[in-house]
Amino acid sequence: MVGVLLVQYRFRNLVLAGTGSALSILILYLNIQNKDTIIDHLTGLMNRRGATELLKTLDQRRQSAQLILVSLKDFKTINDLYGTLIGDLMLKKVASYLTGLTSQDSVYRYSGDMFLVINRELSKDGRRLLDQLMKRFETAWETPTVTTLLDAKFVYAEFPLHAQTPDKVIALLEFLIAKIKMDGNTDMVIADANSVSAMKRRSRVIDALKQAVLLDRFEIALQPIYTFETDRYHRAEVLLRLKDPELGQISPGEFIPYAEEAGLIVDIGRIVTRKALALIAECHAKGLSLDALTVNYSVLHMTQPNLVDEVSQAIHNAGCMPSVLKLEITESIFINDYDMILRNIQALNGAGIGIYLDDFGTGFSNFANVVKLPLEVIKFDRSVILESFNSPKSSMMIKGLVETFALSGFPSVAEGIETAGQEERVKQLGFVGTQGYLRSKPLSPHDFIIFLQLHQKENR
Ligand code: C2E
Ligand code: MG
Ligand code: MG
Repeated sequence: MVGVLLVQYRFRNLVLAGTGSALSILILYLNIQNKDTIIDHLTGLMNRRGATELLKTLDQRRQSAQLILVSLKDFKTINDLYGTLIGDLMLKKVASYLTGLTSQDSVYRYSGDMFLVINRELSKDGRRLLDQLMKRFETAWETPTVTTLLDAKFVYAEFPLHAQTPDKVIALLEFLIAKIKMDGNTDMVIADANSVSAMKRRSRVIDALKQAVLLDRFEIALQPIYTFETDRYHRAEVLLRLKDPELGQISPGEFIPYAEEAGLIVDIGRIVTRKALALIAECHAKGLSLDALTVNYSVLHMTQPNLVDEVSQAIHNAGCMPSVLKLEITESIFINDYDMILRNIQALNGAGIGIYLDDFGTGFSNFANVVKLPLEVIKFDRSVILESFNSPKSSMMIKGLVETFALSGFPSVAEGIETAGQEERVKQLGFVGTQGYLRSKPLSPHDFIIFLQLHQKENR
């Protein structure tokens, strides 16, 4: 009985109106044994489970709805900056704004920092609601002590137009929000036929990755790194390749983010490391001189507590010296579990395993952050290199950075060098070496061995 009263109180406008959907909410509520499982106690809204149940009811009744998922960006920062009490007040403010815009039973606390609006009153145009909502986030949110802007990302989809079942529409919303969260430039996405096919592609790629892990389908390609001073190739980067029997060749640019999302990236990192070490051992057994291979390590892999033991063991098993393996990490480490990563980097360094900073210039690091790390090499991203050719000013800036890194003991390598002209220019800027199509495209292990044999003969 208390449950009925509570639901009548929470959804009084609907209950008063006596609509069919109010009834369905009541039935839904009464059917759930533990009422706490569908109510979010902070905001008083129903939670994700409530939203899913409502979508199921709509599905059974063949009713349609417009859905807006609102995801607060970096909400952790608000909690860290102002404390969780203020964080809670902000969430309540957002919840009350959203219910004011639509109605109490249309708004769901989807997760800690996400709200879902399920608009069933199709007289209210969902796209207009979305515009209004986005506009609201351009202005500050106020609590008695703190006034601040909140950043948010928005996804809009229609049910059943874009996805025909409750599970599919939820999957579509989550896919789209994950996608725009990775894209710093996009704050809103409206579902369409393309997003549905992109989501299908994603699940096929994730299946292909799972199969590849199980059946050892990954291959590696090697891109030699050229050093000016010695005019030789002492090192090469290991790049992952995947050819699926059905999907064909899938580029790492596409599958790495999915591997991270699907929790496969650490396993994949181990596979690549093993293959890289086996190749080094093979090159050395053939009498080839190869100082090191560099392997790309994802941030998640860098936070593993047993990372150093794991990598050291793999090196030992391959019968190699620690110095033959370098781990390439990107600047995204600076926005993650930095302390854990720093501890791992220091321990790796202590174990003789070098760290390269990859794609420098594309991320969030500043000079002070970078020089604090025990790095061996800084690899400047291709986009920064191209930028440095655009104007004398950017060229001077890059030259200054390269010089300052050098003074701090970090040599810089230029990525993505495609022409002799570009190579000459980066040499003038102080880079110690290059990697790019000019010197060599990524090669299969077989072709890489031939490449080394050829170049080492020339150098004798
Ligand atoms: P990255 O680590 O920065 O690797 C360099 C990328 O630039 C490679 O793309 C390489 O083929 C490409 N590249 C090299 N020279 C040139 C050039 O002259 N011009 C142009 N336009 N591109 C050039 P790829 O192999 O497609 O890899 C893309 C990214 O995928 C890599 O960027 C890396 O972030 C990631 N990745 C590749 N293999 C792995 C891996 O084993 N583990 C992880 N976590 N990520 C990987
Ligand atoms: Mg790399
Ligand atoms: Mg790179």
